[in-house]
Amino acid sequence: MNVLVINSGSSSLKYQLYDMKIESVLAKGRVERIGMETSILSHEAEGKPETREVSEILDHTTAIKKVLDMLTHREFGVLRTIEEVDAVGHRIVHGGESFRESVLVTEDVKLEIRRLFDLAPLHNPAHMMGITAVERNLPEVPQAVVFDTAFHQTMPPVSFMYAIPMVFYKKHKVRRYGFHGTSVDYVSRCASDFLGRPLSELKLVVCHIGNGASCTAVLHGKSHDTSMGMTPLEGLMMGTRSGDLDPAIVTFAINKEDLTLNEVNSMLNKHSGLLAVSGVSGDVREVVEAMNNGSENAKLAFEMYANRIRKYIGAYAASMNGIDALVFTAGVGENSALLRSEVCKGLTFLGLALDDKRNEERSDQARSISTADSRVDVLVVPTNEELLIARDTYRLVRETPHT
Ligand code: AMP
Repeated sequence: MNVLVINSGSSSLKYQLYDMKIESVLAKGRVERIGMETSILSHEAEGKPETREVSEILDHTTAIKKVLDMLTHREFGVLRTIEEVDAVGHRIVHGGESFRESVLVTEDVKLEIRRLFDLAPLHNPAHMMGITAVERNLPEVPQAVVFDTAFHQTMPPVSFMYAIPMVFYKKHKVRRYGFHGTSVDYVSRCASDFLGRPLSELKLVVCHIGNGASCTAVLHGKSHDTSMGMTPLEGLMMGTRSGDLDPAIVTFAINKEDLTLNEVNSMLNKHSGLLAVSGVSGDVREVVEAMNNGSENAKLAFEMYANRIRKYIGAYAASMNGIDALVFTAGVGENSALLRSEVCKGLTFLGLALDDKRNEERSDQARSISTADSRVDVLVVPTNEELLIARDTYRLVRETPHT
């Protein structure tokens, strides 16, 4: 069965085509600048030359049509006809409290995703455009939706409630939802396989440190607590996001600097984090380079960034009454030995000991970077959200008799 995985944004769309028999990626690519005259489709497939096409793609329906044309292209494609796309899986950022797991797309499911637009105004409407675009191009093909929030729906109220008047939860569903759930679910299972121990026995802290960053306490295979909140702004310091701060700073900034609500929102999401403190960049690589060249602000930014991760690991070790393994994943977590070492430096009180040599080694496989006698395993596990979306889609389509 061939499963097409789609991550649809408001002006871009990423795709991967999986052959589920062997779980391999047949082709992948992205469409950028949807809605413009100079949209770009970049495409690569196993054993074929990479290609890049500039054309007018005014909407998502045309974008999907272009992707399907490319997948069946004589020179660059991997399919003979579009009938060889058996199912489509979509990444959806917000599933609210309604979706605790992945589901096939039905009229009711679409209605519910629309109801959740308020909670993810930048993301969910763009995902819906992707679903509609696939319906128009492939009306007979079953579609599934996989939610970033679903994995965290196991959190107990003690983790997900905010200490504000109950009316905000009851009337507006203000609570912690958490994000990166698909990634955390995937790497937790990989960690369990790697350690040869069932998830039901493990206490893990998963640090998904990429452009967005979060820590999750995974207790016996289930999300127990996570650092992102009602939105992906809470928790760790990120490239351009502030993460945790005293909420009183918001009203203070509005009063003192005469900022509008939109300006404060933009300040906290786009002009804070590593970028604001270092004054250099929101990219860890550039911050480290500036730090090595003597920038005190870059050094402070990097240390704050690592310290925030360390504090969350400590907090989650306390809330689970212990930790068996610490797992690093995503762009920074998988690639920055310096960040991992900086974070682990202050965790020796947990009996955690990093093996400096193993930490420096590179691999695209799950691996341990702790010493043989460390009481806590430290792992680096490459994440693969697309594969998990493909697997869930494949399972749902096979389980449903009429498809
Ligand atoms: P992701 O959101 O998981 O795709 O992660 C993307 C981010 O990973 C980029 O913005 C970079 O900041 C970061 N990254 C990638 N490679 C490295 C590296 N070698 N060292 C530090 N950060 C990296």
